Amino acid sequence: MEICALCEEQSRKTRNGKPHEFLVKIDSLRKFNGVNPRGFEEQDYQCLTCKAKFTQSTDKNNLAWTLWQG
Ligand SMILES: [Zn+2]
Repeated sequence: MEICALCEEQSRKTRNGKPHEFLVKIDSLRKFNGVNPRGFEEQDYQCLTCKAKFTQSTDKNNLAWTLWQG
């Protein structure tokens, strides 16, 4: 699956990186309260241009932006 240049760039963004302009939220925010007392959150996004899906996570053990390839 080909991904657009913005998604290519998105996949390298850090925790503080904002979603690019054609990424829209899909699904609602998921909150996790696990071992870490502060927990973490995940949000799914999909690109309107190339349909690539990302999950943004605030979990320090995960990548900030995970690209899901089909
Ligand atoms: Zn894209």
